[in-house]
This record gives sequence, structure tokens and C-alpha cells, in this order.
Amino acid sequence: MAWKFDFLIVGAGFSGLTMAERIATRLRKSCLVVEKRPHIGGNSHDSYDPSGVLVHSYGPHYFRTNNEAVRNYLSQFTAWHPVDYKILSFTEGRYWQFPVNLNTFEQYLGRPSSSEEMEAWLAENCQKIEHPKNSEDFVLSKVGRVFYEKFFKGYTTKQWACSPKELDASVCARIPVRTNRDDRYLNERFQAMPKNGYTALFEKMLEAARPFVEVMTETDFAKIAEKTQASEVIYTGPIDEFFRWKHGHLPYRSLRFETESFTAEALLQREKISGKKGFWQPAVQVNHPGEEAFTRIVEIKHATGQQCENSAIVREYPQDCTGDAEPYYPICSPASEEIFQKYRAMAAALQTGRDRRVSFIGRLANYRYFNMDQVVGIALHEFQKLENRYREK
Ligand SMILES: Cc1cc2nc3c(=O)[nH]c(=O)nc-3n(C[C@H](O)[C@H](O)[C@H](O)COP(=O)(O)OP(=O)(O)OC[C@H]3O[C@@H](n4cnc5c(N)ncnc54)[C@H](O)[C@@H]3O)c2cc1C
Repeated sequence: MAWKFDFLIVGAGFSGLTMAERIATRLRKSCLVVEKRPHIGGNSHDSYDPSGVLVHSYGPHYFRTNNEAVRNYLSQFTAWHPVDYKILSFTEGRYWQFPVNLNTFEQYLGRPSSSEEMEAWLAENCQKIEHPKNSEDFVLSKVGRVFYEKFFKGYTTKQWACSPKELDASVCARIPVRTNRDDRYLNERFQAMPKNGYTALFEKMLEAARPFVEVMTETDFAKIAEKTQASEVIYTGPIDEFFRWKHGHLPYRSLRFETESFTAEALLQREKISGKKGFWQPAVQVNHPGEEAFTRIVEIKHATGQQCENSAIVREYPQDCTGDAEPYYPICSPASEEIFQKYRAMAAALQTGRDRRVSFIGRLANYRYFNMDQVVGIALHEFQKLENRYREK
């Protein structure tokens, strides 16, 4: 017997759940959300470790946005814990301020300096490359060789398993460089964490969507596609998988996360390093551009604001995306873009289907790295189009 729903939504991340919530509360249509992992939230999922510390299961998720509509939308489901995300880089046996700013420059000089002196130093030391063609050229043109070698070269090489020379300039373009003392990692106006975490936020979204939304975790779309009758499918999984890899696999880089938990007692011995009672390291994120196999250590308790005497750190090891590894970062190149465009054309044909429409949204269906606020913005926009279509019916 077939299960009947108005919408079948594949994936319970920010993209899928935003669509489910909007469709349920605005159109009052029934949705089945299927998620192959054992939990909701996609990559933004968080949970409590055995010692009671809230940890981000798939790497640190720093919420930030300049998009008021997205902020207002999500604020219906959560209060916020404001935070300035600050990170450090550990190299040559010491912590450095990062991204590069006037404090970093002073650490390098070993004496006080000024914005003017730093600007003059950058003008002299940065390479004059008007249109950088790769990540190495981009960083050399922004901070010069000294800081490139210290902070960027090793980190980027580990992250992508290739030289920054082989990577598009856009890969490193997101990192700011400042000649003042602004040491914030990110530039967006609104920077905050959901007060009770992301999973609590997702649960509130589903609560609002009751009774129109049913969620099935540990359920792969491929296994239930035939069993489910729904005139519309919203697909947020990998686009190549949807078409059974007809044009080949889209390449991704993956990560392995290694969590270590600490009791309050164990943390006492780290106080000299962390500078704070109840913490293991001095900032939410410490980059490790050196010989270590991991790229960064994250202690998310710095950012969540959780009041808990224990703490946990997560070491992040980049790895190839083979076997069971999760697809995290699209490897953008002319070859992968060519494959993606073939899938996109196939997807476009299904978006106007008569019997069953399929919409492809989210990071995996679009083979793009999107931040959380971007996927929520895209889902809200997609819903608006859907709602207009339904109102015209
Ligand atoms: C390491 C890392 C750190 C990040 N840090 C930040 C950050 O600091 N700030 C920020 O804004 N963004 C960050 N992001 C990006 C953020 O994770 C994404 O914007 C967000 O997860 C996108 O949501 P989504 O719903 O499109 O995809 P996802 O969250 O990936 O959700 C898609 C879901 O679909 C499920 N799925 C796939 N195929 C199937 C199938 N066949 N059947 C059933 N279910 C399926 C998957 O299991 C997954 O749960 C980070 C990403 C990574 C990888």
C-alpha cells in the first residue's frame, strides 16, 4: 500500500525543514520528511556528549547573517546567544591572533605598532598580483609571503590535499585581513548561536508544523521513493545520487571528527593555557597549520555559552570522500562544474513535471558551499514561489 502525502521532502537539514515548516503552516499541506541519518538537523545537528557538553556533530556551525528576513524567520523558533567568534592559529609553538590583524602584526614584530606601519609593511610585502588566478596568489597579494607561510600554506594543503596553487582564488577569499585591532573571524552584522542549540531550534520548527509533518529518520529516499505517493518532491540530497550517478560522481572533500571530553578536574590543569576556568583552549577555534594531521581544534562551549563545568574539544582531520565518508566540501574545478551542469539540466526537466514535480534545493542538490543563512534564504525564496503557484491554482 502506498503512503500518500502532498509533499515528500528528502533531507532534514536547514533546507528541508524550512520547506516543511513553511508548507505546513502556510499551505496546511501534508509532508513526509525522510532523513537517512538517525537524527534531524543535517550538518547543523548538535547533541550532548556523555559529560553533558553540547557539541556540534559535524564541525563548528557559527551562525551569522546580514539577512534580516532569515534572522526574523529563525527567531520564531529560538532566542539567541550573541557571540563574537574569535579564533587563533597555533604555529611555531605559540598562539597567534587570526585572521591577520594589527595584533598579529605586533606579535610578528615583537613590539607595539600602528595601522599606518602595518599598511606600509603590507604595501611593501604583498605581491602585486592584480587578478590572482589561484589561492596562493590571492593570499600572497593580500598578506605577503611571511603570513602566507605561517598561517595559510600548511592549513590549506592539509584541508584540500593539494597545493594552494592548484586551488581557485575563491577558496581563500573568504578570510578577512585587517589593519586595525578588529580580531573577529567573521564580518556579518548578526553573529549568534541558537540559545538552546540547533537541534532544539529544529524541534521547535517541527512543533510548529504539527500535525502536517511526519519525519522518518534512518530512511533513505531510494528505499521509499516507490512506496510514497506525493505530487511534489523537494530534494536536498546529492544531485548526482538522485540521477544514480549517470554522469559520474561529483567530487567532495570530507572530514573525520575526533571528540575528546574533559571533566572539570582535568580542565584545572589547562587553565594556564586556556586562561579561563572550565576550558581546554583559549578560543573557540584554534587552527593548526603545522605538521599535525588535523587542521583545527574546536571547543564549541566558548561560543554556545553553555554553563557546564566540563568541556569537550573536537579535532578535525581532512580526508578523501570515499566509502562511508560524508560529502562536505565540493571540489570546484572546470571538470566538476561540467558534470554538475549536466545534472542541473536533468533537474530542470523535472522541475516542471506534470505528474510529479521535483525541486532541488540546498547545498548538496546544488553542489555549492552555502552557509546556513544562505540555505534558509534560498528555501524561503523557493517557498514563496511555491506559495504563489498554489494561490494561483
Ligand atoms: C565542517 C562544516 C562546517 C560548517 N560551518 C558552518 C558555519 O560555521 N556557518 C554556516 O553558516 N555554515 C556552516 N556550514 C554549512 C552548513 O553545514 C550548511 O549551510 C547546511 O548544512 C546546509 O543545509 P542543507 O539542509 O542544505 O544540507 P544538510 O545540512 O547537509 O542536510 C541535508 C540532509 O539530507 C540528508 N540526505 C542526503 N541524501 C539523502 C537520501 N538519499 N535520503 C534521505 N536523506 C538524505 C543528509 O543526511 C542530510 O542530513 C558548515 C559546513 C561544514 C561541512
